[in-house]
Amino acid sequence: MRQRNKPWADDFLKENEHFIIADPQLNKGSWSEVFGNSNPIYVEIGTGKGQFIAGMAEKYPDVNFIGVELAKSVIVTAAQKIMETDYDNILLINKDAEDLKNIFAMDEISQIYLNFSDPWPKNRHKKRRLTFHTFLEKYRDILQKNGELIFKTDNRGLFEYSLVSFSEFGMTLKEVNLDLHAIDDPGNVMTEYEEKFSAKGQVIYRCRSEF
Ligand code: SAM
Repeated sequence: MRQRNKPWADDFLKENEHFIIADPQLNKGSWSEVFGNSNPIYVEIGTGKGQFIAGMAEKYPDVNFIGVELAKSVIVTAAQKIMETDYDNILLINKDAEDLKNIFAMDEISQIYLNFSDPWPKNRHKKRRLTFHTFLEKYRDILQKNGELIFKTDNRGLFEYSLVSFSEFGMTLKEVNLDLHAIDDPGNVMTEYEEKFSAKGQVIYRCRSEF
């Protein structure tokens, strides 16, 4: 994702700490209290500019959503967009997915979404792929039993790599879809990248799996 330098981003993050949670590790194990209800919590990792999470929050008002996004210059755009709405079921966290286990307790999360994760095509960078086994360990620990990992991408190489990674980790593949837009799935909420790539005629892949 293209990242522009935004000199105002630090001030914006400070002013909106109630929404882009400044010290999320303080809420480990008590996210339900932060939301003020016991609804299930879905996490999107690599939220980008927030289109998906905003669409999901509107569609599923009885679910709490947390978007984790590494890039400060991107998460502020997501925050601006979401703050224009009146959804009270979204929070954002400006952290690396590496930190997930410091932020969420065991079994605290019901679903995890990976949307159009950076492919890191070079083999020497494979540890950075969000479907590398070190990340899968973190997802497994924070997900409840029967919680799902839902992964969408247009990148065939990353999709193939990820299916093998899930399988080697002993995960159960509940859906492997090689052309998501060829089916009529009213539950599918499009991300920014999904719109961009599918408009260019690229196929979108989706896998739903559980640990
Ligand atoms: N999910 C959005 C979409 O589908 O339109 C954005 C996709 S963009 C290619 C990938 C996003 O993941 C970027 O915003 C990037 O900063 C974020 N990202 C990459 N690695 C991450 C990590 N380790 N932890 C959190 N976010 C990460």
